Formats: sequence, structure tokens, C-alpha cells
Amino acid sequence: MQLKSVEIKGFKSFADKVDLDFTHGITAIVGPNGSGKSNIVDAIRWVLGEQSAKTLRGAKMEDVIFAGTENRKQLNYAEVSLILDNGDGLLPIEYNEVKITRRLYRSGESEYMLNNSICRLKDIYELLMDTGIGVDGYSIIGQGKVEEILSSKAEDRRSIFEEATGITKFKSRKIEAEKKLENTRQNLIRINDIISELE
Ligand code: ATP
Repeated sequence: MQLKSVEIKGFKSFADKVDLDFTHGITAIVGPNGSGKSNIVDAIRWVLGEQSAKTLRGAKMEDVIFAGTENRKQLNYAEVSLILDNGDGLLPIEYNEVKITRRLYRSGESEYMLNNSICRLKDIYELLMDTGIGVDGYSIIGQGKVEEILSSKAEDRRSIFEEATGITKFKSRKIEAEKKLENTRQNLIRINDIISELE
């Protein structure tokens, strides 16, 4: 699986639509201070479902929408799409190319899309689970991340290996199944109470 391109519109400093193509090999993004290099990484993190405005270097989520300049009005929404080549079938979806989109309006309304169809964030999380490219994956190594990994607790480091070995998905399903079991247990207790009241 390979990141083919990123489309950014109205996100942070990118008022106009920008398409960034990542061809084979290493791609380097260069530019003067404040020109928006880190905003590209923020855009990738954001489309993968980042929920923390602080991680995206803002105070509130609305700060990701182009805020305007002296010569240009602010925009009302931000939209980012990632296009992934799934030729190797690593993503459990029957498409050779997968497009993940996130859109956020100033009103607070937001939507996620998979290949242009509205979906839940959960669908995106599940699609990317165990691939390393999810928002908590290890494929985005920001400034200070290496140090954070080296100094983090053993349990935190373990989660990186769990993602790499593909067991995150099973752990998450186990937690969901345990929740369902607990709900069923509570329902059974309630039913038994009703039965004993009726007897
Ligand atoms: P450096 O090399 O110093 O790390 P950089 O190239 O990584 O810089 P970024 O941090 O990506 O630069 O971009 C910062 C710029 O983005 C600032 O000029 C800031 O005003 C602009 N910016 C951030 N959020 C918004 C927004 N919502 N609307 C418009 N511009 C924004």
C-alpha cells in the first residue's frame, strides 16, 4: 500500500485546492519557515481522524479551517482527501484505490467519506487498523515523536508493536464483545428480577 496523493482545500494555510502527488521513492517537502510544511502533515493526521485540536497545533477544531488573510476572506469549510494505492490488498476493501475524505464546516458539522460515500469515523479506524497508518499508527513520525517513543512507558511502546503485528484489531473487537457480554449479563439480571416478581 502506498500513499499516492493528498488533496487539500481550505485547510489551514491552503485556501485553494492543492494536489500533492507522492511518487515512488522518497518525497521531500522543502520551503521557508511558516510556508506550510507542517500543515501538510497536520492535514494527513486530520483526515485519518485526529480529534485533538492541540495535536494539530490549534486551540479548537475550527482552527484548521482557512482563517483568511488581509486580502482574502476566511473559508467556511476545510476538506482533505488521502488517496491510497491498495494494489497489494493490505486494506480489507475491494478497491485498488482508496480515497479517504474528511470535511469540516464552521458550523461544526463534519463528515467522513470512503471512496466518496459518507461513512463513520469508526469505518475509517477499522479499515486502517493494524496497517500502521491510522492516526495512532507509527507511519507519521512528527517532531519529538522518536524521543517520545524512547521515553514512553513499556505498555505504550507495546501498543506500537501490537499495531505492527496486526493484533490491535482483535483487541478492539474483544473490548466490543466484552461490552456486549456485560450488557447481556445486565439484561439477564433484569429479566430474572421480573420473573421472580411475577412468580
Ligand atoms: P517551520 O519550517 O517554521 O516549521 P512550516 O513550513 O512547517 O514552518 P507551518 O507551521 O506548516 O509552516 O505553517 C504555519 C503557517 O500556517 C502560519 O503562517 C500560519 O499563519 C498558517 N496557518 C495556520 N493555520 C491557519 C489557518 N487556519 N488559516 C490560515 N493560515 C493558517
